[in-house]
Amino acid sequence: MKPIRTFNVSPSLPKRLEPLRKLAYNLHWDWNFDTTDLFRRLDRDLWESSRYNPVLMLGTISQERLREVAEDEGFLAQMDRAAQQLEGYLTERTWYRKHRDRKLTSEKPKEIPASPSTPPSSKDCYAYFSAEFGLTSCLPIYSGGLGVLAGDHLKSASDLGLPLVGVGLLYQEGYFAQYLNADGWQQERYPINDFYNMPLHLERNPDGSELRISVDYPGREVFARVWRVQIGTVPLYLLDTNIEPNNQYDQDITDQLYGGDIDVRIHQEIMLGIGGVRMLKALGLHPTAYHMNEGHSAFLALERIRMMIQESGLTFAEAKQVAQSSQVFTTHTPVPAGIDLFPPEKITYYLGRYANTFGLSKEEFLSLGRENSGDLAAPFSMAILALKMASFVNGVSRLHGAVSRSMFQNLWPNLPVIEVPITSITNGVHARSCVAKPTQELYDRYLGPSWSQATTDSPLWERVNSIPDEELWRNHERQRSELVVFVRDRLQRSLRDRGASVTEIAEAQEVLDPSVLTIGFARRFATYKRATLFLRDLERIKQILHDSSQAGGKRRVQFVIAGKAHPKDIPGKELIRQIIHFTRDEALSRSVVFIPNYDIHVSRLMVAGCDIWLNTPRRPREASGTSGMKAAMNGLPNLSVLDGWWDEADYVRTGWPIGHGEDYDDLEYQDEVEANALYDLIEQEVVPLFYTRDDEDLPRGWVSKMKDAIRLNCPLFNTARMVGEYALRGYFPASDRYFNMIQDQYSPAKLLAHWQTHLFDHWYDIRIEDIKISEPAEIKVNQEIAVKAKISLGALTDEDVRVELYQGSVSATGEITNGVPVTMVYQGQDSQGNSLYTVNISYTNSGLQGLSLRVLPSHDYLSSPYEPGLVLWAEPEKVSINLQSNGNGHVLEPEAVMTEAVTH
Ligand SMILES: *Cc1c(COP(=O)(O)O)cnc(C)c1O
Repeated sequence: MKPIRTFNVSPSLPKRLEPLRKLAYNLHWDWNFDTTDLFRRLDRDLWESSRYNPVLMLGTISQERLREVAEDEGFLAQMDRAAQQLEGYLTERTWYRKHRDRKLTSEKPKEIPASPSTPPSSKDCYAYFSAEFGLTSCLPIYSGGLGVLAGDHLKSASDLGLPLVGVGLLYQEGYFAQYLNADGWQQERYPINDFYNMPLHLERNPDGSELRISVDYPGREVFARVWRVQIGTVPLYLLDTNIEPNNQYDQDITDQLYGGDIDVRIHQEIMLGIGGVRMLKALGLHPTAYHMNEGHSAFLALERIRMMIQESGLTFAEAKQVAQSSQVFTTHTPVPAGIDLFPPEKITYYLGRYANTFGLSKEEFLSLGRENSGDLAAPFSMAILALKMASFVNGVSRLHGAVSRSMFQNLWPNLPVIEVPITSITNGVHARSCVAKPTQELYDRYLGPSWSQATTDSPLWERVNSIPDEELWRNHERQRSELVVFVRDRLQRSLRDRGASVTEIAEAQEVLDPSVLTIGFARRFATYKRATLFLRDLERIKQILHDSSQAGGKRRVQFVIAGKAHPKDIPGKELIRQIIHFTRDEALSRSVVFIPNYDIHVSRLMVAGCDIWLNTPRRPREASGTSGMKAAMNGLPNLSVLDGWWDEADYVRTGWPIGHGEDYDDLEYQDEVEANALYDLIEQEVVPLFYTRDDEDLPRGWVSKMKDAIRLNCPLFNTARMVGEYALRGYFPASDRYFNMIQDQYSPAKLLAHWQTHLFDHWYDIRIEDIKISEPAEIKVNQEIAVKAKISLGALTDEDVRVELYQGSVSATGEITNGVPVTMVYQGQDSQGNSLYTVNISYTNSGLQGLSLRVLPSHDYLSSPYEPGLVLWAEPEKVSINLQSNGNGHVLEPEAVMTEAVTH
């Protein structure tokens, strides 16, 4: 039965309790324990049964209980304190003002006329687009690491006071809930999200009607309404297509996260990218920088360009300059197979209109998403579209940055891989969201409350050593006990739901031992994460679990495991089943447990209550990984393959590395070697350190490692640091470029577009005529040599290019490695009209050194000289003094123009 009319009935609160509404609707409570304590105090059972959803709780709590607390002085005082804290939090965010305004006064963008009367910072607005956001358990619109990272990004942006808004989709069913059948096979349930009973505001027009946007799809318009989640000062706007008059198919666009087929996927990405841009406009927001968190939202670039063409009369080239200058792209995918691809005919079918508006042919349009524009069969890659449309691109750990540079190297032909303009900003986690409450209180007490955002250079971190070992350890042991209680409870519930026998349910009460070394492993069950690596040698792992050493059973080990496999990932589900079957072994059921339905709540308990955090990905497939960071912040050492963030952490002092960062071709062999390394480490390092206790039963060595984990990892792998980096390196410069591009009716953008056309027309006429160097082949370290170059620039001038000498050592294959560019100085023209350049250089290292020369485009408005993708390298025969390669017989690649033996 369809209703004839619907109402949104909001909780009715006694006047005195009105502050609860504001508290409930601002997700600040998620990382503020005073407020969550308040909700728990209101009704403990309801708090838990609502999955920690204060809005649902306020909507279902009895009026009687509300009347009761409205009279309770203690409750009211706590409520007023929490309300005051929120008020204070919302007004006291200062990092942004401090860093943005200082930057504006000290580093005025060059060559730009006087700034407008209000400082740009007050007009800054950064839009952060992501397909998923993991903020808190009662908003299940995330699947895993990418979502939690996006959620933590918003929380830290609020902490830092950044003018940032999030953009995403509101999924009616969200990501699935996991349960297991009797055989251990993963089953999925899709609970329907009841938006009206979640911390969501429906955005409305001034007349009270729903705010709606529409997006064009082939043959029809699709409408969406807009919900807002308030995260401290940061709003997250989510689109919802589940409304009339959309047809059923369109209503389901925002049905499931990563659900459906390729058509649903493209519908979703159009709604996210294109709908997202329209929504921001409908909300009256004018972002000055756009951040694409992974490629799913990259269509936003097309919509921005379309708007500038149709509303401001720009050409495609001009509009692209503006869009690109203000777009930031973060890639999270270390393997080509992980990239979001669409068949070209789908792109043409769904987005052909854009090609027409842009004045591009079908192939020109498709080449925006192709590495090689000549390959007409190639699919359209969202990552490539995002790369081509961004002026700042990063991977999510140092190692992943390097992997991304080589993965996308072909987009910048002729550029040495180390110069490919993809940098890295290592992921982090939001400290206040992932550290257990008692542990936070401990840090607050000994380090001071600013620990959660303090940087590495803060003296506060030295105070970690002043935390008494005893206190840190007893606190940690309490966390372990709480985890054990939680696991037993959750297992019993899920067995009951499955109709298991009374004996089975009773046995679940006996799993785990709160005093035993507990290894935690929780993540998506993608096969590359190798969740079952520790089971490779069953005899050996049984010995470890039961302690078959001389200690004779006193040094036991237990595993707590959790994670979901993607519904279509059969091999991933197989891994879960293997673990469940393993735990069925009589002797093991108590020491290896799998917790069903991993989510943010389970994660928080695990990273606090386990003793060590295990990770065994196949390097380099874990772009960053973040659960290990959460564990480290709670004082857990990590035990992990050197991949993602762990590769750049202090893995000796704050945990143990499995292997040494080797790459393998033979995967079987890799598993063999790494499983054995894992067993050896557990037996020889982890277990002895954990179980060596002093007279007071304290594992001093272990506690010292815990302190190192806190001291060294908290300040680094923290989203406060991460978002600060995005702001300083990504958003501020992008926003500056945007303001520069649009001033004076977009005249800089027009100029730049015009200049680029001119550049492309004449680039290939540039001739490097001659290069002279002053010294013979044998030179000394630090000896100065003068280099002169004669270059014919044709129709271009010295202002259009930058000429660089490129020097570095020569590898065995004859290539310059780790080359360093040195800008040459323009000296005017000779009588034939050639441009002359000079520079003096010297070598600081001895051995075989190489030298080359290159020409790059140069323009003040260009975000980087690599943006046009043009580099001209000197050819060896252009060198007038032809140095012999010192008789060592290397065949030189064209790039190494000259080699010189440098002697001491
Ligand atoms: C942190 C977190 C993740 C990401 O963990 P990885 O180590 O990156 O795999 C996934 N899911 C949940 C619920 C999390 O809290």
